[in-house]
Amino acid sequence: MKALVINSGSSSLKFQLLDMDNESVLASGLVERIGDAEGNIKCTFHPDTEKESVVKKTLPIPTHTVAGQMVVDLLTDKEHGVLADKSEVGVIGHRVVHGGENFSKTTLLNDAAIAALEDTVPLAPLHNTANLDGIRIAQELFPGVPQVGVFDTAFHQTLPPHAFRYAIPKDLYEKDRIRRYGFHGTSHKYVVGECAKLCGIDVDKINAITVHLGNGGSITAVENGKSVDTSMGFTPLQGLVMGTRSGDIDPSVHAFLARNHQMSCDEIDNMLNKESGLKGLCGLNDMRDIHAAIEKGDKDAELALAVQTYRTKKYIGAYMAVLGRVDAIVFTAGIGENDDIVREMSLAGLENFGIILDTKINAQRVKTPTLLSTPESKVQIWCIPTNEELAIAREAVALVSK
Ligand code: ADP
Repeated sequence: MKALVINSGSSSLKFQLLDMDNESVLASGLVERIGDAEGNIKCTFHPDTEKESVVKKTLPIPTHTVAGQMVVDLLTDKEHGVLADKSEVGVIGHRVVHGGENFSKTTLLNDAAIAALEDTVPLAPLHNTANLDGIRIAQELFPGVPQVGVFDTAFHQTLPPHAFRYAIPKDLYEKDRIRRYGFHGTSHKYVVGECAKLCGIDVDKINAITVHLGNGGSITAVENGKSVDTSMGFTPLQGLVMGTRSGDIDPSVHAFLARNHQMSCDEIDNMLNKESGLKGLCGLNDMRDIHAAIEKGDKDAELALAVQTYRTKKYIGAYMAVLGRVDAIVFTAGIGENDDIVREMSLAGLENFGIILDTKINAQRVKTPTLLSTPESKVQIWCIPTNEELAIAREAVALVSK
């Protein structure tokens, strides 16, 4: 079966077409700057194979509907031949950011599910509106093809109330649904599944701490294969220090800024989401640039790395306490997969907890799942590349094949 994975953002549309008979990627691409004077579309056919070819175009792309039609035209383009006809697509998997409390698992997007999804829009107005647009466009372009929603929040719906409730007046939970939801669930679930296979432990028996460090970052405590706590909260702003997001901060800072700097809610929100994190600390938000700046003696960059890795270590310690027994710690995503220095600093001094990194293996750059701990380490340390598109396609195919 061929599966199309769609991730529709406010001005972008990411897509991937997979042949799920052998899990190969037939095409992968991105439409950007939808609605601007000039937009970009890029599609790679048969990526990372001998047949790889790339198509890039710059042209006005006024709406998501136009973007969707361009994607269909590219995928059915005779020259590249990944689809003879769009009817070959057997299922479409949509990445949906927020499922609220309505969605605890991957769901067929029938009319009732779409209505329930509309109900979650107030929780993530920008993301979920864009995701709903993508779903409606896919319904028009692929009539009759099952559409499946895979939710970033779903894996964390197993959090117990003592982990997901905030200590604020209970009406705010009951009426406004303010609680911890957690995000990056598709990635955490995928890497814990892969880790269980690699460790030879049943996925419903594994205890693990999964550390997803990309532009956004989150860390999850997994008990018997289920998420029991996670660092992101009501929104993806809470928790770790990220590229441009502050992560944890004293909530009183908001009131201080409003009172003393006359900042509006939107200005504070923008500052904490877009001007903070690594960028706020040192002006740079890409970890590669931070290492280059440190080499040149930049003290702010050095501090940014220290704050980021210290925060990550604190969460690892907290989740060791939550879980009691930990079989594995898994690093994933852009930084987690590639940055040996961040991994080493995040685990430094945890030897007494049975966490011992093999620094030589850790320093090698590898693209495949790799065990990074020494044989004496009680906790296995893994680097496992995440693959959210494959995870979404697998979930979508499994649901429609039931
Ligand atoms: P996203 O959250 O957007 O999916 P990724 O998981 O692709 O992001 O991670 C992107 C980030 O990963 C970059 O901003 C950069 O900080 C980091 N990164 C990517 N490659 C490397 C590398 N080789 N070394 C260190 N950091 C890297």
